Amino acid sequence: MKINIIGAGISGLALGYFCKKKGHDVRIFEASNKAGGIIATEFMPEGMVQHGPHLTRLNNTLEALLQELGIETVYSLTKKRYIANVHNGFNLRFPLTLSDILKSVLLQFRERKNSYTSLADFVNHHYGEVFTQNLLQPIINGVYAVSSEKLNEEIAFKNIYFKEKRAIYFTLKVILQKLNSKSKEIITPKDGFQDLTEELAYSLNKNISYNIKIDDISNLDGFNYITVPAFNVKNINGILLDTHRILEDIVYSNLDVTTVFSSTPFTKEGIGILTNAKNGILGVLFNSSTFGFRTISKLHSYSIFSKNLTEEEVQNFCKNTLKVEVIKSYFKSYNKAVPIYNNTIKDFINYNNNLKTNYKFFSNYTGEISIGGIIKKAKEIAEKL
Ligand SMILES: Cc1cc2nc3c(=O)[nH]c(=O)nc-3n(C[C@H](O)[C@H](O)[C@H](O)COP(=O)(O)OP(=O)(O)OC[C@H]3O[C@@H](n4cnc5c(N)ncnc54)[C@H](O)[C@@H]3O)c2cc1C
Repeated sequence: MKINIIGAGISGLALGYFCKKKGHDVRIFEASNKAGGIIATEFMPEGMVQHGPHLTRLNNTLEALLQELGIETVYSLTKKRYIANVHNGFNLRFPLTLSDILKSVLLQFRERKNSYTSLADFVNHHYGEVFTQNLLQPIINGVYAVSSEKLNEEIAFKNIYFKEKRAIYFTLKVILQKLNSKSKEIITPKDGFQDLTEELAYSLNKNISYNIKIDDISNLDGFNYITVPAFNVKNINGILLDTHRILEDIVYSNLDVTTVFSSTPFTKEGIGILTNAKNGILGVLFNSSTFGFRTISKLHSYSIFSKNLTEEEVQNFCKNTLKVEVIKSYFKSYNKAVPIYNNTIKDFINYNNNLKTNYKFFSNYTGEISIGGIIKKAKEIAEKL
């Protein structure tokens, strides 16, 4: 089967790789002069800087792919998680402080309601707002958006009237799932995610055409997979007006990443869970203590994820809150970084699955936002073709 793939980010590359392996005739068109899309790794004098994705959860497909491509993988050394508390900037150890836990124990004795307007209402009432804002919300609705299976749960979080038993069951299920996840399942390629996209591009070398921006798919012969960001699709002709309309409603969140090198060892270690705050610090990844390999000259490395802050403000956060002295920082701002998973995305996933056209979409707005998830899904699609 002739398959055209528009875009050579991780979605296009992974889909192309698995389709080619199945014997399909694959052509990938990339507007820029390189593959990888938003994935970018740089080697600076102080150590490695990952501007975009830092880590992902391992699954069987990803594990096999990394092996096939000969990519060395690093497992996270710790299970510890931190959540940036957006109110005072202090990083809470997961799960919560002693006083938060005590408060929530006291709230257990509060009068029960007959039903709750939302899961948030239930959690606020019986565990306190600190649970909702710092635990439940980031877990369910974090910037690293949930998988498609979780979408219904996210919507339930906002809309459904909960009976207490269901609310307790659901809350525990989500939190336990997260707590049970083994640290070894969080991985990163030793030389950064760009290593993965470069290896994929290398094995697809003859199939990729660079510097070709597709603005009309009607002239292309074969079935088309569109992997470009939703906001870029409006520039492509040959697509139903309906499709354009629904894609226009997909909202993207901006996100900035600052990689900080410091000589100060940080006593905490772990992976920051990103909150979905509108402004400020969203999360911290303690690179050196999580993966233990990123720096040279014994410098320590931290990645600070933020929204609407300047590089200087991020540096002040490092100095005043993390108590680390910044020797060098690298700041990268992503406008329209990641799609926000909400009802629009859910509708689009259904719409895309039912399209009877000569094109379909495959990107981080069609079900999976994480690298691991995208790769798993790409193989599933190729297998069904
Ligand atoms: C700051 C940041 C941190 C992240 N951290 C993580 C993380 O730690 N772990 C994780 O799993 N995920 C993370 N993500 C999410 C993950 O990186 C993305 O979901 C994923 O990389 C998206 O890949 P994509 O191929 O779908 O899109 P893109 O990378 O956007 O690729 C689309 C490609 O299409 C090309 N293109 C566009 N228009 C056209 C056209 N008309 N014709 C031809 N080509 C075109 C573009 O040039 C680009 O190469 C992060 C994202 C960001 C922004």
